[in-house]
Amino acid sequence: MPKKMEALSGLRAKFGSTVRKRYSRAYRTLKTARECPSCASLKLKRTASGIWTCSVCGYTVAGGAYDIVPAKTA
Ligand SMILES: [Zn+2]
Repeated sequence: MPKKMEALSGLRAKFGSTVRKRYSRAYRTLKTARECPSCASLKLKRTASGIWTCSVCGYTVAGGAYDIVPAKTA
């Protein structure tokens, strides 16, 4: 299946395709580089669901589970 652009091995053949697509979209959003509001570096990472921490200055902020801004269900 070379046409698929799912860059994930996480779920493999488990679950249906809808769930896998949803998962890969959330995963990609999660891995996007984010700017730290405090020191402007791109090291803001999610440490737990809804908790984002900058690995440079240690700035911690609450946000959405998969994005710094809580996603609207579309
Ligand atoms: Zn920072």
